[in-house]
Amino acid sequence: MNTIPTPTAVEKMDHLNLRPALEFVARYGDIYERFVRYLIHKPSAPVGAIVSLTTLEEDLIADSVHITGIETLEILSRLPPAFQELSMLDNINYHFAGIVYVPIFEESGEWKGAVDMVDEAKFPRLCSGDHPHRILIGRSDGVVIFPSALPVSIHESIRTRWLYQLHVMLHEFFHTIEFMRRDHVVAEKVILCDQKDNTYTFRDWWKKWEDLFTSTTRPLCPTRYAQTYADFLTLEVCTKDPGAFVVALAEQVAESFVGYIIGIVPNDQGYSSFKNHSPEAWALIHELATSRVLKIS
Ligand SMILES: [Zn+2]
Repeated sequence: MNTIPTPTAVEKMDHLNLRPALEFVARYGDIYERFVRYLIHKPSAPVGAIVSLTTLEEDLIADSVHITGIETLEILSRLPPAFQELSMLDNINYHFAGIVYVPIFEESGEWKGAVDMVDEAKFPRLCSGDHPHRILIGRSDGVVIFPSALPVSIHESIRTRWLYQLHVMLHEFFHTIEFMRRDHVVAEKVILCDQKDNTYTFRDWWKKWEDLFTSTTRPLCPTRYAQTYADFLTLEVCTKDPGAFVVALAEQVAESFVGYIIGIVPNDQGYSSFKNHSPEAWALIHELATSRVLKIS
């Protein structure tokens, strides 16, 4: 971008500014640590896909801050069994662990989906005028998670960055539960049983999220990041552009999942408890967390 961006363009580009999220993690570091200790001290009970999970190329993360494959396994093996059984995660591929995904913006400030892939050591590039805080992080294709770099320019504290990498890893893990089930026919084949012995399908559960976020009393988006998709959470978008709607909704659910598991996620309202910030979303994740999986497909 050669011209000076307008205030509106800056505001749009700052939707992808990660610095406030990392500042939130640093501010509530003690609470994060308490939740993580609680999570790690639960008994480990790996089931299904988690047992056979392979992680690749961890040597690539040596110079970077990353939650490792072993740490990830320790966390995932302590998740409620339903999440482990529903996940289609096959492996974690660290091939892009040292790469920063730098969004390319239109002059209007819109991000159209393209990125520059920049070596972590070279970010932010002076010649390209990279903003030091606007990056994307993490990616999954529904089966493989591809961690990416969280450079020091975003936040100086290694531990703060690790805690946010944990957030990203759990977020991507949730995509391995929902991504392949965005097709309603596939989602209807997954059958679960709640604590009152009522059976329901994954599609039934997903519909509750659709209803929640398209209702006239729509709750707050669970995190600052999830808020960037707020404009797409309407019945009009659901009808006219269902692909954009499902992506926006999946981001709400994935962030809510992280909030449920860790107990705290970055938000602009200053809540240190996800359950207090987003009680409806917490309850829907809890419903899945406490259900038994009867049939996967
Ligand atoms: Zn996502």
